[in-house]
Amino acid sequence: MKSHWTKWLSQPGNIRTVAVEATELVKGLSKPQNLAAASQAGFGEAVVGALLIASAHKSSESINMNAQGSGLFRQAIIDASPEGRVRGFLREQKDSSLHTFGASGSNGPWGSGVLSVLYTKNFEGKYPYTGMVPISTGFLDEAINEYYRDSEQLVSKVGLFVELTPDGRQVIAARGALVQALGGATSDELEDIRGLSIQHLRHLGSTADNTAVFMQEMSALLKQRKFEVVENKELTAFCNCGQDRIERALTLTGEKDIKEALGNEPFMTIICDFCRKEFRVSAERIKSLFSRDPSRLQ
Ligand SMILES: [Zn+2]
Repeated sequence: MKSHWTKWLSQPGNIRTVAVEATELVKGLSKPQNLAAASQAGFGEAVVGALLIASAHKSSESINMNAQGSGLFRQAIIDASPEGRVRGFLREQKDSSLHTFGASGSNGPWGSGVLSVLYTKNFEGKYPYTGMVPISTGFLDEAINEYYRDSEQLVSKVGLFVELTPDGRQVIAARGALVQALGGATSDELEDIRGLSIQHLRHLGSTADNTAVFMQEMSALLKQRKFEVVENKELTAFCNCGQDRIERALTLTGEKDIKEALGNEPFMTIICDFCRKEFRVSAERIKSLFSRDPSRLQ
Protein backbone atom coordinates (compact mmCIF):
# COMPACT_ATOMS: atom_id res chain seq x y z
CA MET A 1 0.00 0.00 0.00
CA LYS A 2 1.27 3.47 -0.88
CA SER A 3 1.96 5.68 2.11
CA HIS A 4 -0.66 8.35 2.52
CA TRP A 5 -2.55 10.55 4.90
CA THR A 6 -6.26 11.13 4.98
CA LYS A 7 -7.78 14.20 6.61
CA TRP A 8 -11.33 14.44 7.85
CA LEU A 9 -13.54 17.24 9.13
CA SER A 10 -16.46 16.69 11.46
CA GLN A 11 -19.87 18.06 10.55
CA PRO A 12 -20.05 20.95 11.30
CA GLY A 13 -16.34 21.45 10.67
CA ASN A 14 -14.96 22.02 14.16
CA ILE A 15 -12.85 18.89 14.56
CA ARG A 16 -10.03 17.83 12.28
CA THR A 17 -8.68 14.30 12.27
CA VAL A 18 -5.73 12.91 10.35
CA ALA A 19 -4.80 9.29 9.68
CA VAL A 20 -1.20 8.59 8.63
CA GLU A 21 -0.27 5.26 7.03
CA ALA A 22 3.50 5.39 6.42
CA THR A 23 4.69 1.76 6.58
CA GLU A 24 6.30 1.60 3.12
CA LEU A 25 7.79 5.07 3.46
CA VAL A 26 9.40 4.20 6.80
CA LYS A 27 10.83 0.98 5.35
CA GLY A 28 12.30 2.91 2.43
CA LEU A 29 13.76 5.65 4.62
CA SER A 30 15.21 3.10 7.10
CA LYS A 31 17.05 1.03 4.52
CA PRO A 32 20.06 3.26 3.75
CA GLN A 33 20.55 3.83 7.49
CA ASN A 34 21.02 0.11 8.27
CA LEU A 35 18.89 0.38 11.39
CA ALA A 36 18.23 -2.54 13.73
CA ALA A 37 14.55 -3.51 13.85
CA ALA A 38 13.86 -1.80 17.20
CA SER A 39 15.43 1.34 15.81
CA GLN A 40 13.28 1.14 12.69
CA ALA A 41 10.30 1.15 15.03
CA GLY A 42 11.59 4.25 16.84
CA PHE A 43 12.37 5.91 13.53
CA GLY A 44 8.86 5.03 12.30
CA GLU A 45 7.34 6.72 15.34
CA ALA A 46 9.36 9.85 14.69
CA VAL A 47 8.45 9.95 10.97
CA VAL A 48 4.73 9.45 11.64
CA GLY A 49 4.77 11.95 14.53
CA ALA A 50 6.42 14.64 12.40
CA LEU A 51 3.99 14.01 9.53
CA LEU A 52 1.03 14.35 11.89
CA ILE A 53 2.32 17.68 13.17
CA ALA A 54 3.05 18.90 9.61
CA SER A 55 -0.36 17.75 8.35
CA ALA A 56 -2.13 20.41 10.39
CA HIS A 57 0.02 23.31 9.19
CA LYS A 58 -0.15 26.00 6.56
CA SER A 59 1.43 25.14 3.23
CA SER A 60 4.29 27.62 3.67
CA GLU A 61 5.42 26.13 6.98
CA SER A 62 7.51 22.98 7.13
CA ILE A 63 8.40 21.41 10.41
CA ASN A 64 11.63 20.08 11.82
CA MET A 65 11.29 17.66 14.71
CA ASN A 66 14.26 16.77 16.86
CA ALA A 67 13.86 14.03 19.49
CA GLN A 68 16.76 13.27 21.80
CA GLY A 69 16.58 10.41 24.26
CA SER A 70 18.57 8.32 26.72
CA GLY A 71 16.96 4.97 25.83
CA LEU A 72 17.45 2.84 22.74
CA PHE A 73 17.63 5.90 20.50
CA ARG A 74 19.97 8.83 20.89
CA GLN A 75 18.38 11.17 18.38
CA ALA A 76 15.92 11.39 15.51
CA ILE A 77 15.71 14.39 13.21
CA ILE A 78 12.78 14.59 10.83
CA ASP A 79 11.78 17.27 8.31
CA ALA A 80 8.16 17.10 7.15
CA SER A 81 6.01 19.42 5.07
CA PRO A 82 2.25 20.05 4.83
CA GLU A 83 2.54 18.68 1.28
CA GLY A 84 3.36 15.27 2.73
CA ARG A 85 7.08 15.24 1.98
CA VAL A 86 9.44 13.84 4.58
CA ARG A 87 13.07 12.99 5.26
CA GLY A 88 14.87 12.01 8.42
CA PHE A 89 17.39 9.90 10.21
CA LEU A 90 17.84 8.19 13.55
CA ARG A 91 20.98 7.72 15.62
CA GLU A 92 20.98 4.61 17.75
CA GLN A 93 22.33 4.46 21.27
CA LYS A 94 24.70 1.62 20.44
CA ASP A 95 26.37 1.32 23.82
CA SER A 96 23.67 -0.36 25.89
CA SER A 97 25.43 0.58 29.14
CA LEU A 98 24.36 4.14 28.38
CA HIS A 99 20.66 3.27 28.19
CA THR A 100 18.59 4.93 30.85
CA PHE A 101 14.84 4.96 30.79
CA GLY A 102 11.95 7.23 31.66
CA ALA A 103 12.34 9.70 34.48
CA SER A 104 8.79 9.26 35.74
CA GLY A 105 8.94 5.51 36.09
CA SER A 106 7.61 4.24 32.78
CA ASN A 107 9.97 2.51 30.48
CA GLY A 108 9.31 3.81 27.01
CA PRO A 109 12.03 3.13 24.43
CA TRP A 110 13.09 6.77 24.14
CA GLY A 111 14.14 7.02 27.79
CA SER A 112 14.18 10.58 29.02
CA GLY A 113 15.15 13.50 26.86
CA VAL A 114 13.89 16.47 24.91
CA LEU A 115 11.54 16.92 21.98
CA SER A 116 11.73 20.13 19.98
CA VAL A 117 9.67 21.26 17.03
CA LEU A 118 10.65 24.13 14.73
CA TYR A 119 8.54 25.67 12.01
CA THR A 120 10.58 26.79 9.05
CA LYS A 121 9.86 28.32 5.67
CA ASN A 122 10.54 25.58 3.13
CA PHE A 123 13.18 23.94 5.31
CA GLU A 124 15.33 27.06 5.07
CA GLY A 125 16.44 27.38 8.64
CA LYS A 126 14.55 30.54 9.64
CA TYR A 127 12.73 29.73 12.83
CA PRO A 128 9.50 31.64 13.27
CA TYR A 129 8.48 29.35 16.10
CA THR A 130 9.98 26.69 18.27
CA GLY A 131 8.50 24.54 21.01
CA MET A 132 10.41 22.31 23.39
CA VAL A 133 9.13 19.74 25.90
CA PRO A 134 10.72 16.96 27.94
CA ILE A 135 10.41 13.33 26.91
CA SER A 136 9.68 12.06 30.39
CA THR A 137 7.89 8.70 30.05
CA GLY A 138 10.00 7.43 27.16
CA PHE A 139 7.04 7.42 24.76
CA LEU A 140 7.26 9.78 21.82
CA ASP A 141 3.51 10.20 21.35
CA GLU A 142 3.13 11.24 24.98
CA ALA A 143 5.84 13.85 24.45
CA ILE A 144 4.07 15.11 21.29
CA ASN A 145 0.85 15.44 23.29
CA GLU A 146 2.73 17.41 25.89
CA TYR A 147 4.10 19.60 23.14
CA TYR A 148 0.54 20.25 21.96
CA ARG A 149 -0.59 21.06 25.52
CA ASP A 150 2.28 23.49 26.02
CA SER A 151 2.84 25.07 22.67
CA GLU A 152 -0.23 25.20 20.49
CA GLN A 153 -3.49 27.03 20.89
CA LEU A 154 -5.62 24.19 19.54
CA VAL A 155 -6.64 21.23 21.69
CA SER A 156 -4.96 18.29 19.95
CA LYS A 157 -4.26 14.62 20.66
CA VAL A 158 -1.90 12.26 18.86
CA GLY A 159 -1.31 8.50 19.02
CA LEU A 160 1.41 6.47 17.28
CA PHE A 161 1.24 2.81 16.32
CA VAL A 162 4.32 0.93 15.14
CA GLU A 163 4.45 -2.84 14.93
CA LEU A 164 7.22 -5.34 14.19
CA THR A 165 6.87 -8.83 12.70
CA PRO A 166 6.50 -11.58 15.37
CA ASP A 167 10.20 -12.41 15.02
CA GLY A 168 10.93 -8.73 15.72
CA ARG A 169 12.96 -8.27 12.55
CA GLN A 170 10.93 -5.92 10.43
CA VAL A 171 8.45 -3.09 10.69
CA ILE A 172 5.03 -4.15 9.44
CA ALA A 173 3.06 -1.07 10.46
CA ALA A 174 3.94 2.59 10.99
CA ARG A 175 0.76 4.58 11.51
CA GLY A 176 -0.77 7.30 13.60
CA ALA A 177 -3.74 9.53 14.28
CA LEU A 178 -4.34 13.17 15.19
CA VAL A 179 -7.57 14.60 16.56
CA GLN A 180 -7.64 18.40 16.77
CA ALA A 181 -10.20 21.03 17.71
CA LEU A 182 -10.48 23.92 15.26
CA GLY A 183 -11.23 27.56 16.05
CA GLY A 184 -14.99 27.30 16.35
CA ALA A 185 -15.11 24.18 18.52
CA THR A 186 -17.83 24.14 21.19
CA SER A 187 -17.13 23.34 24.83
CA ASP A 188 -18.69 19.89 24.28
CA GLU A 189 -16.36 19.20 21.38
CA LEU A 190 -13.33 20.37 23.36
CA GLU A 191 -14.31 18.22 26.31
CA ASP A 192 -14.76 15.14 24.14
CA ILE A 193 -11.30 15.56 22.63
CA ARG A 194 -9.72 16.19 26.03
CA GLY A 195 -11.40 12.99 27.24
CA LEU A 196 -9.52 10.81 24.73
CA SER A 197 -6.69 8.77 26.25
CA ILE A 198 -3.39 7.90 24.62
CA GLN A 199 -4.70 4.31 24.25
CA HIS A 200 -7.70 5.61 22.31
CA LEU A 201 -5.42 7.53 19.97
CA ARG A 202 -2.99 4.63 19.51
CA HIS A 203 -5.87 2.31 18.72
CA LEU A 204 -7.31 4.83 16.25
CA GLY A 205 -3.85 5.19 14.68
CA SER A 206 -3.60 1.42 14.25
CA THR A 207 -6.55 1.56 11.84
CA ALA A 208 -5.06 4.30 9.64
CA ASP A 209 -4.50 1.81 6.79
CA ASN A 210 -8.25 1.33 6.39
CA THR A 211 -10.36 4.41 5.75
CA ALA A 212 -13.69 2.78 6.53
CA VAL A 213 -12.52 1.27 9.83
CA PHE A 214 -10.77 4.48 10.84
CA MET A 215 -13.94 6.48 10.25
CA GLN A 216 -16.02 4.03 12.24
CA GLU A 217 -13.60 4.05 15.19
CA MET A 218 -13.27 7.82 15.12
CA SER A 219 -17.01 8.24 15.16
CA ALA A 220 -17.31 5.78 18.05
CA LEU A 221 -14.70 7.70 20.07
CA LEU A 222 -16.36 11.06 19.38
CA LYS A 223 -20.01 10.50 20.26
CA GLN A 224 -21.05 9.23 16.82
CA ARG A 225 -20.24 12.53 15.12
CA LYS A 226 -20.11 12.36 11.35
CA PHE A 227 -16.89 13.02 9.47
CA GLU A 228 -16.09 13.59 5.84
CA VAL A 229 -12.83 13.20 3.96
CA VAL A 230 -11.28 16.51 2.92
CA GLU A 231 -7.91 15.30 1.66
CA ASN A 232 -6.20 12.07 0.71
CA LYS A 233 -2.56 12.54 -0.19
CA GLU A 234 0.32 10.28 -1.04
CA LEU A 235 3.34 10.72 1.25
CA THR A 236 6.76 10.91 -0.36
CA ALA A 237 10.41 10.93 0.65
CA PHE A 238 12.55 13.85 -0.40
CA CYS A 239 16.00 15.26 0.24
CA ASN A 240 17.20 18.69 -0.78
CA CYS A 241 20.90 18.03 -0.34
CA GLY A 242 23.29 18.86 -3.18
CA GLN A 243 26.88 19.81 -3.89
CA ASP A 244 26.18 23.52 -3.23
CA ARG A 245 24.59 22.90 0.15
CA ILE A 246 27.34 20.53 1.21
CA GLU A 247 29.99 23.09 0.26
CA ARG A 248 28.13 25.87 2.05
CA ALA A 249 27.96 23.70 5.18
CA LEU A 250 31.72 23.15 4.93
CA THR A 251 32.42 26.86 4.89
CA LEU A 252 30.24 27.30 7.98
CA THR A 253 32.21 24.62 9.81
CA GLY A 254 35.38 26.70 9.72
CA GLU A 255 38.56 26.54 7.73
CA LYS A 256 40.85 25.09 10.38
CA ASP A 257 38.63 22.10 11.22
CA ILE A 258 38.00 21.28 7.58
CA LYS A 259 41.66 21.48 6.61
CA GLU A 260 42.59 19.28 9.57
CA ALA A 261 39.94 16.72 8.59
CA LEU A 262 41.17 16.74 5.00
CA GLY A 263 44.83 16.23 5.95
CA ASN A 264 46.82 15.28 2.85
CA GLU A 265 43.93 13.57 1.08
CA PRO A 266 43.03 14.71 -2.43
CA PHE A 267 39.34 15.05 -1.51
CA MET A 268 36.85 14.84 1.35
CA THR A 269 33.86 12.52 1.25
CA ILE A 270 30.75 13.82 2.94
CA ILE A 271 27.63 11.73 3.39
CA CYS A 272 24.21 13.34 3.70
CA ASP A 273 22.74 12.39 7.12
CA PHE A 274 19.27 12.15 5.62
CA CYS A 275 19.56 10.21 2.35
CA ARG A 276 23.13 8.85 2.75
CA LYS A 277 24.17 10.19 -0.65
CA GLU A 278 27.92 10.71 -0.99
CA PHE A 279 29.51 13.97 -2.04
CA ARG A 280 33.14 14.64 -2.80
CA VAL A 281 34.88 17.95 -2.37
CA SER A 282 38.41 18.15 -3.73
CA ALA A 283 41.30 19.69 -1.80
CA GLU A 284 41.52 22.31 -4.51
CA ARG A 285 37.85 23.19 -4.19
CA ILE A 286 38.19 23.45 -0.41
CA LYS A 287 41.04 25.87 -0.88
CA SER A 288 39.03 28.04 -3.23
CA LEU A 289 35.94 27.94 -0.94
CA PHE A 290 37.94 29.51 1.85
CA SER A 291 39.76 31.97 -0.34
CA ARG A 292 36.49 33.69 -1.30
CA ASP A 293 34.34 36.00 0.72
CA PRO A 294 31.93 33.52 2.41
CA SER A 295 28.99 35.92 2.04
CA ARG A 296 29.07 35.29 -1.71
CA LEU A 297 28.06 31.71 -1.06
CA GLN A 298 24.80 32.58 0.69
ZN1 LIG B 1 20.37 14.03 1.19
